[in-house]
Amino acid sequence: MTKFSDLNLNPKVLKAIEEAGYESPTPIQEGAIPSALEGKDVLGIAQTGTGKTASFTLPMITLLARGRARARMPRSLVLCPTRELAAQVAENFDIYAKHVKLTKALLIGGVSFKEQDALIDKGVDVLIATPGRLLDHFERGKLLLTGVQIMVVDEADRMLDMGFIPDIERIFSLTPFTRQTLFFSATMAPEIERITNTFLSAPARIEVARQATASETIEQGAVFFKASRRDREGSEKRRVLRELIEREGEACTNAIVFCNRKVDVDVVAKSLKKYGYNAEPIHGDLDQSQRTRTLDGFRDGSIRLLIASDVAARGLDVPSVSHVFNFDVPSHAEDYVHRIGRTGRAGREGKAFTIVVPKDEKNFEDVEKLLEKEIPRVELPSAPKPKASAKQDVAEEPAAAAPEKADKGEKKSTRSRSRKSDKPAQEKPARRSERNDNNVVGMGDHMPEFIALSFEERRAS
Ligand code: AMP
Repeated sequence: MTKFSDLNLNPKVLKAIEEAGYESPTPIQEGAIPSALEGKDVLGIAQTGTGKTASFTLPMITLLARGRARARMPRSLVLCPTRELAAQVAENFDIYAKHVKLTKALLIGGVSFKEQDALIDKGVDVLIATPGRLLDHFERGKLLLTGVQIMVVDEADRMLDMGFIPDIERIFSLTPFTRQTLFFSATMAPEIERITNTFLSAPARIEVARQATASETIEQGAVFFKASRRDREGSEKRRVLRELIEREGEACTNAIVFCNRKVDVDVVAKSLKKYGYNAEPIHGDLDQSQRTRTLDGFRDGSIRLLIASDVAARGLDVPSVSHVFNFDVPSHAEDYVHRIGRTGRAGREGKAFTIVVPKDEKNFEDVEKLLEKEIPRVELPSAPKPKASAKQDVAEEPAAAAPEKADKGEKKSTRSRSRKSDKPAQEKPARRSERNDNNVVGMGDHMPEFIALSFEERRAS
């Protein structure tokens, strides 16, 4: 197996990678880094989650570590389709370049021109930008692209979807012909092929297996559940969440719990804390220093559960999240893919569970449509049977009928002990039976065997 140390990267970059906890390069890194370091153009066909950001950032830092920036003439340029992605690349850059003296500027909407102008005036090594904002700066005469030695185009297919291709072509034409180009796209649409044929010169083409929309290393499950009374939905959902967390036991080393609304982020975080969990909320209303503290705590493992809204989680780079729990089904199916993409990153295994109440069933259907697959149903003591009659629910599981009491009882009876011993003794047999009536639909007679296995059995197989 290739090691980072075999790749000819700057020793200071290697040190930063080690500190980031990366053990070995991902396939896109193994493929792209050597060619990039040789100064060749690279065409990387890879999706988010494959480690592609480091596959261009690491050689860039190594190459740029020699030499110095000149005023208004950035030495390299990274173009990203969205602000969030640009911010994420900038964050990655900071991690990998922390032992190297390089300057960077981020040109995205929402960041003031003035500050960025001042940085560019001084001279930056790396300019990370969205195409529109970059051209705005250029047109205001604040920027010269003739010093660009390395240009990266990230997520070109999304650029295409967003109508940025003419901007990209223009930017290409403003940079020197001799520049090195590192170009990344998840797919090769004809328009993308055309651009690469025009602007890349004999590129090294590295294609890594396309991951399914939601990475195949992510095991997914959904708990269909109907509250015993409408006004108890919130508290019963929180109980379901706790059961899901308990059910995962120690395998759940750290997790992000997503809520659709900020107010629920706070309520869920508070409730989990009350039950003895190590949980903190993160959302846009918290001040920056608090958000940074929380994120740092989550990154270094001192916070186990991060309760987040979609907006807060965007641009969040947490390398190894074992679990994602969707307290609510997101109202846009694409957000589901983003949310669960927080686990199972860079080939790691991850699990993602979603709680589905009746009013979210339509949104959940949209998620399954987008993924083009059925997400296996999970049964829990308090959410025993998907779409079963209420009568049956009550008869089988009295806890579901009196959740508030059960909530309180549970606090004493289960939480204070270790996670492993919290598990009810009958859990294994109960899951076996759950498997048998596990209501997997939409597979016809061809249901893959693994879907019928319990999580433990799947893990073991
Ligand atoms: P990306 O595809 O660039 O969005 O990267 C996905 C995630 O994988 C990020 O959270 C990176 O921090 C992480 N990552 C990148 N390279 C590696 C690696 N070689 N080993 C472990 N994690 C990595």
